[in-house]
Formats: sequence, C-alpha cells, structure tokens
Amino acid sequence: MRLSRYFLPTLKDTPSEAKIASHRLMLRAGMIRQSSSGVYSWLPLGLRVLKKIENIVREEQNAVGCHEVLMPTIQPADLWQKSGRYDDYGPEMLRIVDRHKRDMLYGPTNEEQITEIFASSVHSYRELPQILYHIQWKFRDEVRPRFGVMRGREFLMKDAYSFDIDKESARRSYNKMFVSYLKTYERLGLKAIPMAADTGPIGGDMSHEFLILTETGESEIACHSDFIEMSLANEDIDFKGNLKPIVDRFTSKYAATDEMRDPEAEKALGDNLVTARGIEVGHIFNFGTKYSKPMGASVAGPDGKDIDVEMGSYGIGVSRLVGGIIESSHDENGIIWPDSISPFEVGVINLKVDDADCDKACDDIYKTLLEQGKDVIYDDRDDRAGAKFADADLIGVPWQIILGPRGLKNGVVELKNRKSGEREELSLESALSKTSE
Ligand code: ATP
Ligand code: MG
Repeated sequence: MRLSRYFLPTLKDTPSEAKIASHRLMLRAGMIRQSSSGVYSWLPLGLRVLKKIENIVREEQNAVGCHEVLMPTIQPADLWQKSGRYDDYGPEMLRIVDRHKRDMLYGPTNEEQITEIFASSVHSYRELPQILYHIQWKFRDEVRPRFGVMRGREFLMKDAYSFDIDKESARRSYNKMFVSYLKTYERLGLKAIPMAADTGPIGGDMSHEFLILTETGESEIACHSDFIEMSLANEDIDFKGNLKPIVDRFTSKYAATDEMRDPEAEKALGDNLVTARGIEVGHIFNFGTKYSKPMGASVAGPDGKDIDVEMGSYGIGVSRLVGGIIESSHDENGIIWPDSISPFEVGVINLKVDDADCDKACDDIYKTLLEQGKDVIYDDRDDRAGAKFADADLIGVPWQIILGPRGLKNGVVELKNRKSGEREELSLESALSKTSE
C-alpha cells in the first residue's frame, strides 16, 4: 500500500473525549470514527485489524468442527416473546416497528434465532452434537457507552451455539469451546484468564468469562499468580479426545471477576494473590434446556421419545478485542501490534521523495516485499522524516525499513523494530531476511 494514496486520516492532537489509551490511539491512528454515541465507522486501517482478528476467531471455530452461518441483525419480536425474554431484556434492546406495524428488534444476541433454526431443521439425536456460529453485529443500548469500541452500543461479536442430546455430551462441547478459546486468545497474542461466572438459576459450573489483564479494565479481578505464566504452549491438544485435564488445569485455581470474589479464598492465597483490572473478551455458558424447552427444540432420542436438547452459547467480543489488544500493547508513541493481527507486516520509509535515486531504491524494496507476499505500507509521501517516523510508530508498523540519500551512498538501510525500539544499519539483504524471521 502506498501511503500517498491510502486513506489514513491520522490525528496530531489527542481527542478530548477519549479517556483511555486504546480509544485515543484508535482515533489518532485513523482506525475508527464515531457516528453516534457507542456507534463507530471502521476506516481502512481499523477494518484490516478487525478482519484479521475475525479470521483467527473463525479459523479456531472451524478447527473444532463448528459450522459458520449468518443470521440477520434484525429479528422479529415474536421469537423473543416465545422465549419470554422480550419483556425481560429491558431498555438495552433497541425495538423497531416496521411499516406493517410489526414489532422487530436489532439483535443483542441470537439464542432465540438459532434455536428456531435448529427446531425447524433437526429432528433426530443422530444429527447431534452440533455447534453453529456466526460473526455478526449486535446492538445493545448500553446505559454508558464508553472507552470507544470496548463498550459500544453496536459491536461485532462471534457467537456460537451448541446442541447436545444429554448433559455429558453438552459438557464435552463446553470443554471443546473452553480450550478453543484459550487457543484463540493465545494466537491473538493475549493472555486471557478463564474465571467462573454466575450461572444464575441454571446452576452448575459451566459458565466462564475470559478476561485479559490491563490497567484500564472495567472489572477488578483477583487470581492465583500461577495464571500469569500458564499457557497451552506445551500442550498436545486433540480436540477429538478428552479435554477435561486441560480444562481442570485452568479451572482448579482461584480466579474471580469483581462480582464473584471471595475474601476468604483470597486470604488463603497469601503471597500468591494477584489483583488487577480486567477486560472481558469472551463468555461461555451452558444453559441446559432454557431455550429449547419453550421454543420446541427437541429431537427424537434412540427410543423414539422426544428430548429437549441441551444448549450452550459462546461469545467473543471481536470489536472489543481491537481495543483490548491495544490496551495491553502500546507505548507513548502508539500501538504495538502482536504479529498475528498487525495491519501491516513491514513498512518502507522513503526519506527523500522526489530524489530519483531514492525513489527508485525504495520502489524496488516495496516491490520485492510485495513479491514476497508481505503486507507492506510504503511511506512515499512528500513529508518531513519526523512526521513519517511518528506515523509509523503510531499505527504500529512492526518492521520499518528506512532509506535516504546517506544510506543509499553507503549501501545500507536502517531497520527499526517497533516493539524493541532497536534501530540498526545493515545491508538491504540482511534487513529483508530479518523482517521474514
Ligand atoms: P459485559 O459484562 O462487558 O457487558 P456481557 O456479559 O453483557 O458483557 P455477553 O453477553 O457475554 O457480554 O457477550 C459476549 C462478549 O461480547 C463479551 O464477552 C464481550 O467481549 C462482548 N461485548 C458485550 N457487550 C459489549 C459491548 N457493549 N461492546 C463491545 N463488546 C461487548
Ligand atoms: Mg453487557
């Protein structure tokens, strides 16, 4: 991408409405623009990151045998009257009346819609288990939309729904999603800690929220210090096999969100207690027959008798993750992207645009990188070097190849690593091979 032709409306000044780093940086880096309170347009740079996150989430859902669907954003109210949630949901639900005076709503979630699809399509236990998901915009008229895309009114969510014949099978689906979530967050460069969540009248232990620790999270969490080092790195995961040992390893130690904290348990942890702030980036929940029963989602069992299916739902806040990742990885100059979702892999900075030799050398580097299949951003704008460096750091270009007349004369380029801040002069060949490491 040639920056001179790109649409990257960066801001020099810090927008006053933004209270936290990620919101400030997303506005300054030209990733989003507010449309109305809690509703945003995604500009090219922001959309690139959103799509990369979405793709990782999708790949990991597909990897455990979930099937992608796409349900509408607008749903009929009678679906929600059937489940009994139409009146319960309250003012967070955006209610709409169409021209025929039919009550509609902008979906805040999709349990009802998916249960109806399932009920009309699946009739035998032989077709189970099944997990369906979609990645779709939701609307919740939050009382206090804030922190940019972290608590929006319109936001992108991946929500999956599992259908099983009995509790044991539902537990297997739950465990599969639990481990799949850990893997997804690790691929996004995040450490997300599963914390037991309230199951309400359903009861049981099958509800977990996944939180990442940052200074500005909305929840004041506490956990065992072992979580800080825990990962799936050395785990040999077979999603068709028994995942219970992994789930047990990640649930046997204390970890609690602000609503679930237990002073006694925390006292017992002594020096192993960590308190921090956290952002909820996912929530998984088994709710048994709560929706299948009222909405008639039953299948014929082996003996021909009808059985209400056991269901679970599994959400990941895709748009919230963009903010969450920035919140956990930035410095005073801008964003530091994890490699897996960086909008660009390499940048080329031409320090003397309109100098024929410089232009030619930088154009060639740009072409070489493109031929290598890299996502490249090429700063070919006629601007001050300082402004170019500032923008490259702001938008978080991980490797920056910098070239001007002096380097050209000496046969070297400068290579900057955004994460470490390290800059070195080396041959173009070495620089290119470093960016491919
Ligand atoms: P919260 O407690 O933060 O309001 P929730 O419990 O209402 O979240 P769920 O219904 O479990 O959220 O939704 C699944 C995921 O969607 C959450 O884990 C979160 O990452 C994301 N999410 C929920 N509400 C919002 C919002 N207003 N803006 C952005 N993302 C959201
Ligand atoms: Mg909420």
